[in-house]
Amino acid sequence: MIITSASFVRSSVTVSQCPPPDKPEFGFIGRSNVGKSSLINMITGSKGLAKVSGSPGKTRTINHFLINEGWYLVDLPGYGYAKVPARMKESWNRSVQEYILKRENLACLFVLIDSRHEPQNSDLAFMEFLGLNGIPLARVFTKSDKLSPAAVWKSIENYDRVMLSRWESLPATFVSSTLRKKGKEEILSFIQETINNLSKLA
Ligand code: GDP
Repeated sequence: MIITSASFVRSSVTVSQCPPPDKPEFGFIGRSNVGKSSLINMITGSKGLAKVSGSPGKTRTINHFLINEGWYLVDLPGYGYAKVPARMKESWNRSVQEYILKRENLACLFVLIDSRHEPQNSDLAFMEFLGLNGIPLARVFTKSDKLSPAAVWKSIENYDRVMLSRWESLPATFVSSTLRKKGKEEILSFIQETINNLSKLA
């Protein structure tokens, strides 16, 4: 897929504020600082679409971007160790949960995982929540340039081992590096394929 247009549509706090669910939607989520904004910018080819910053936990709203006039890319608030009061964290979690469970046009949620770390409970618990609720997901192992290829595969294997004890099959998996421009084509092909399959079903 070639991206011909990408524009910001709206920031929402609740599902009811989101744009009408009239196009397939692909969400991006992960722990704060996992590289989500950088990945979104790489995928869309627009440097400033999502804001990259050194301070974790800045995305607090559900941000919709319209891509190629045909589908929505959604930047979701990061979960995990955002440096905010617990009360605020709770309200973010509520709004993200509500979005995930109620957004009817959500075609796939890309869960971003930092390649460098051992399997994290928060990532595993989040993916389990998606699986239990039948939400389609894919994994993206980010910042792969910080490791050797063998070490990246080891990280993925570590996740696979834990997940295979609880899952019947593993979700689609991608490896990305915004530094090396890696993962873009694969993720966009997957999105295109998912859109094609949805239109066959319609
Ligand atoms: P977010 O908080 O998940 O949106 O993460 P950002 O996209 O803001 O990135 C957090 C930090 O990680 C920034 O300093 C980025 O420059 C850096 N970063 C993001 N992706 C990559 C990557 O693929 N490789 C490397 N080496 N650094 C990255």
